[in-house]
Amino acid sequence: MESFSSLMEITSRPNLVFISGHGSWLKERGGEEYLDFIQGWAVNCLGHSPRVLVEAVAEQVGRLINASPAFYNEPMIRLADMLTANSCFDRIFFGNSGAEANEGAIKLARKWGARHRDGAYEIITMEHGFHGRTLATMSASGKAQWEKLFEPKVPGFPKVPLNDLAAVKEAINERTVAVMLEPVQGEAGVYPATPTFLQGLRDITREHNLLLIFDEVQTGMGRTGSLFAYQHSGVEPDIMTLGKGLGGGVPISALLAKEPVCAFEHGDQGGTFNGNPLMTAAAGAVLETLIQPGFLDNVRTQAAYLRKRLESISTRHGLGEIRGCGMLLALDTVTAIAPNVVGAALDRRLILNAPRPSTLRFMPSLTVTKDEIDHMAEILDDTLGELVRK
Ligand SMILES: *Cc1c(COP(=O)(O)O)cnc(C)c1O
Repeated sequence: MESFSSLMEITSRPNLVFISGHGSWLKERGGEEYLDFIQGWAVNCLGHSPRVLVEAVAEQVGRLINASPAFYNEPMIRLADMLTANSCFDRIFFGNSGAEANEGAIKLARKWGARHRDGAYEIITMEHGFHGRTLATMSASGKAQWEKLFEPKVPGFPKVPLNDLAAVKEAINERTVAVMLEPVQGEAGVYPATPTFLQGLRDITREHNLLLIFDEVQTGMGRTGSLFAYQHSGVEPDIMTLGKGLGGGVPISALLAKEPVCAFEHGDQGGTFNGNPLMTAAAGAVLETLIQPGFLDNVRTQAAYLRKRLESISTRHGLGEIRGCGMLLALDTVTAIAPNVVGAALDRRLILNAPRPSTLRFMPSLTVTKDEIDHMAEILDDTLGELVRK
């Protein structure tokens, strides 16, 4: 038997090694199949190894993997065109992770501030928000556990409570250049920004000539039932970031902006792997699937069913509210039993996530079937029955 000691310890992992996956199922090397309601943290939006992605990557890997970021390539152009055609944005910069896209959004806002707002650089962000693990994105995040980590952090990210417009107004000063938030706070435990708050933010940012930045790394790419979460509220941000679901499992992210905000000059932004044809071909295949007629209708139908099943489970076990929308849902367990539920569900070969001690999060494949939702609900019901009895 091998040990796991060559890997850096960054988290506690169960003693499982997954060797293959298809759709909503992951196979462990002992042969057991696990029902996956995390999907790599809302990453595998079409499930494990979907045929469209396998074919797109296989085709591209034999054709061209990397032409250097100094040149155009076909999949890069095609993906950028598809993203601008299906959103309110005009230009795209591709990255490799959500944090990198957000880092780019922060840089773009600061550059715009330097050029158009007399050097304004502060970006108001939300308490409990999550924007990634680089130094600047950790500084922009509102995770209490991170406050003392890796000091000194990057300055310029005053925090306000989510859905508190008065607090945002109070935080604005002559150094403020932007407001940045997730339309639904994912890692915080699935807390949506209200449409009124988003509309209010759009109004104040216009009034004060500030940029509005949506981090849609988790909510984008169909996760909430529309292609992008901003479409629910009708509020168009100036800048948006995508990651997670964009590549359907492979590492690619994007920074999208409206034309007047595109302030980068040559040399300001770049990256070795950025916009490489292999990853952009993968993301192109994913996006092409999501925009097919009926695809998102089906996501909404299945998501409504998932919500209904979770609501009845919550009622039966005397638990709390269901939060979120589309295929990004949370069940509030009220007491801090969520990590135990996750552990007990894993023993029953169901993969769930507890972003907080009293929150279970559900982010299955967008292609999850009714049968799979039923299967998940039965295991969860069973697990809760046993834990709540104890
Ligand atoms: C996951 C996530 C990130 C970070 O993405 P990485 O690819 O892990 O760097 C940023 N913002 C939000 C909202 C996320 O959910």
